[in-house]
Amino acid sequence: MPAKNAATKSGKKVKGHLGRHSTDKPSAFDNALKQFERAAEILELTENQIVVIKEPRRITEVKLPVRMDDGSIDVFKAFRVQHNVARGPAKGGVRFHPDVTVDEVKALAFWMTYKCAVVGIPMGGGKGGVTVDPRKLSKGEFERLSRRYFAEMMDLFGPDRDIPAPDVNTNPQVMAWFMDTYSMHHRNHLPAVVTGKPPEIGGSAGRVSATAQGMVYCVRKAFEHLGIDLSKASVAVQGFGNAGSYAARLLKRDGCIIRGISDIDGAFVSDSGIDPGLAVKHVEQYGTLKGFDKHAHVQKLDDPMKLLELPVDLLIPAALENQITKSNARRIKAKIIAECANGPCTPEADEILEKKKKFVIPDILCNAGGVTVSYLEWVQNRMGYYWTEERIQDDLKRLMEDAFARVLQTSLKYDVPMRTAAFIVGIQRVTEASELRGLYA
Ligand code: NAD
Repeated sequence: MPAKNAATKSGKKVKGHLGRHSTDKPSAFDNALKQFERAAEILELTENQIVVIKEPRRITEVKLPVRMDDGSIDVFKAFRVQHNVARGPAKGGVRFHPDVTVDEVKALAFWMTYKCAVVGIPMGGGKGGVTVDPRKLSKGEFERLSRRYFAEMMDLFGPDRDIPAPDVNTNPQVMAWFMDTYSMHHRNHLPAVVTGKPPEIGGSAGRVSATAQGMVYCVRKAFEHLGIDLSKASVAVQGFGNAGSYAARLLKRDGCIIRGISDIDGAFVSDSGIDPGLAVKHVEQYGTLKGFDKHAHVQKLDDPMKLLELPVDLLIPAALENQITKSNARRIKAKIIAECANGPCTPEADEILEKKKKFVIPDILCNAGGVTVSYLEWVQNRMGYYWTEERIQDDLKRLMEDAFARVLQTSLKYDVPMRTAAFIVGIQRVTEASELRGLYA
């Protein structure tokens, strides 16, 4: 619920966007803890080990006053959560969305800790969020809000402390504003404070498609493991932003037929296959997939959630949390679910999918390509020397395939689903780092 307007000293009204109540939403953080607990039980962790690595280490909440174009001031609720920094500085994106709550940001930071550990990069887990609908902001308002966020959180961030990146509704331009705000404040050129920047100012080759590319490396291995031919596979993708639109384009290149795509404004299907390149052009022109059914052989679904239930080989949730739940999990037909989004399946849905013998490539493995190339960007920024796209792709492929193999091996060893196996790998590495470091003072 928006906060009530209040008068400022100058007598001007202050409007508010202070977030909705989260009580009507399943708690993403509770879901994350359930995933953790299943793996921790198998590893027989002690209470002392658990208390150190389970809860976030630092939660910061601020109110951001921003001057709007009409001269009024709006106040936005914003968060940064640092979950665990035993293995390296906190790393994780910043999300701008009207439904952002502290619970959601805690869950996203938690998943970052274990994601970095699963792919073996020397970083911890963090995440940020602003409760705002960016579609209602002008470009100037969007820039002032982005800069204000970074300025308010300035003391938390730093190339060796906490390094943000893009997430839902933030992009390379926002990262450029973050980097500029930090660099101007410190009177120094400090590109390594944020990743996912445009290549012109220190961004890495391959970062923009890295999340989807990492997913593709996992998906190829999953199809190989299950003995299914990827080049003939049918695919549905929920969400058509950075992760989803690259997922559709890259899989089409592998020969897949994209049967359905969706965004916040609707879901579109085609028996003969959707051309993701055409869909990208549509979004570039209109800012949304709305109206995409004007193209031949494309139909709009009355209920966009039915996209998840299409009879396809591969389903890619690439939007938000809690999309596959106990109410629709039984109707999922895809054999393989590749989680580009964070937290798209609830624990109750996981149980159903496990019984139905679905192969879920979990978020903390599947979408780790983004943070992996972010790490490579950070390394390049610190050296001041930049690698070619080929070098980045070689490293990304190797790191993703190694992580996939390690998680699959763990899943077979303990006879557990891939999600629990990924947590086993991640928790072991975070626990080892915490124990080696011990407690300071
Ligand atoms: P984005 O803002 O670029 O795109 C989000 C897309 O989801 C948009 O097309 C939006 O319209 C759509 N969407 C929103 N609500 C929807 C709904 N209810 N139904 C269908 N579509 C909906 O965001 P992104 O960066 O692509 O992130 C998507 C997911 O991937 C998030 O869960 C994010 O945390 C995860 N992720 C992103 C990255 C990255 O590098 N960008 C890395 C790892 C994980």
